Amino acid sequence: MHDGGARFAIHLMCTNCLRRKVQTLSVPAVEDAPTCVEELVESQALAQMRFVCHGCESVIGEIVAIKQLYSELA
Ligand SMILES: [Zn+2]
Repeated sequence: MHDGGARFAIHLMCTNCLRRKVQTLSVPAVEDAPTCVEELVESQALAQMRFVCHGCESVIGEIVAIKQLYSELA
């Protein structure tokens, strides 16, 4: 049994000023929710994620890495 959905750290790079940013993305614990990075990439969750660069306020970020976060808390 899972209490919550999976959590991912999305590493983005601003295409304008090349600053990097890490955003945490939590997916709901529903039937078809992605549970690993591969499934996340194939899902629409990434497309719905909003990015705003804190340096130049550009909204175009390129994903450079995705890491799944595992909670150690029970
Ligand atoms: Zn920027």
